[in-house]
Amino acid sequence: QSEDQKRLIDIHNQVARLYHHILVNTKLGEHALSYLHSRGLDDETIDEFQLGFAPQENLLQPFLKQREVDQQLMHASGLFIERDDGTLSDRFFNRVMYPIRNQAGQTIAFSGRVLDKQASQAKYLNSPETTIFSKRDVLFNLDKAKAAVRTTKDVILFEGFMDVISAFQAGVKNGIASMGTSFTDQQIHQIERITDHLEICYDGDEPGQKAINRAVDTLAHARLKLGVIQLPSGVDPDEYRKQNGDEQFQKMIQTARESPVTFKLRFLKLHRNFNRDEDRVDYLNDALAVIATVDTPVGRDVYVNQLVDQFQVDKQLLLDQINGIILNNR
Ligand code: ATP
Ligand code: MN
Ligand code: MN
Ligand code: MN
Repeated sequence: QSEDQKRLIDIHNQVARLYHHILVNTKLGEHALSYLHSRGLDDETIDEFQLGFAPQENLLQPFLKQREVDQQLMHASGLFIERDDGTLSDRFFNRVMYPIRNQAGQTIAFSGRVLDKQASQAKYLNSPETTIFSKRDVLFNLDKAKAAVRTTKDVILFEGFMDVISAFQAGVKNGIASMGTSFTDQQIHQIERITDHLEICYDGDEPGQKAINRAVDTLAHARLKLGVIQLPSGVDPDEYRKQNGDEQFQKMIQTARESPVTFKLRFLKLHRNFNRDEDRVDYLNDALAVIATVDTPVGRDVYVNQLVDQFQVDKQLLLDQINGIILNNR
């Protein structure tokens, strides 16, 4: 890390402390604190993740000036936006603040959430790319998950960092999340350095299912053993915990696991009407292509039998088609 990078990290750590102090100790933070409490987070979790509140637009400049941070570094921090007249104002205001940390636990960026649903504003606002923050590289909570993985052995990939925080409070401490972007090779390599087993637990809505499907494809050639944790439709992990409690959440995380192939065979059913011959044929063709990726005959047999039961098709035909696909892919 260069001198400037060290100073930027130092700035972020100080600003995280300031936002956190405002949230937990001041009148300005009361509204945001009760918002977080109403979402089911307790004070211990709020401290653990150093959650904070950014009240107004003109907070950081005087704070950093007092600490002898110069204008150029303020610019480089990503914590400000430049007005038309060249002056700086805080990028984050009237938002609940989530510090984003690197693997070493140093704060390198923020994400800020609006308190109330306002259609005019993006729900989450992230720091821009800086010399210390590259969105494609960061995995939220990797620093803590690294410690947890010694006992859990696996890591759980959630869609949002609220899910990671919520899971952490329920005792599931091995959760990570990307910053709202799809999964990158750099992130895969970082995960491979700490574990050989990844479970994907995205939201139970359609965007979540599509994102699981993409992630499974991205991870197809990774060395990781892969699983999918399937939520009831419509809820995300954080909502599930809030509705069902910590114990049930832990149980769900352990028991709702399925293989990527089982996930795909279900995913391929979306928007298909099996009363139509065309849809049944399309489904079977797609399903056989998925089953052909299973690397043992016994493994393939399990899934082929499911298709035979569901569609009353001739098993030998299915096996012939699969073997054709396998030969072609060689
Ligand atoms: P919450 O429970 O606070 O509404 P969430 O984690 O359920 O948050 P989702 O809408 O499921 O949020 O989105 C998942 C992730 O996608 C978020 O954690 C965030 O990183 C990213 N994201 C969502 N909306 C935005 C946005 N408007 N701008 C940038 N990133 C976003
Ligand atoms: Mn979602
Ligand atoms: Mn969600
Ligand atoms: Mn949510």
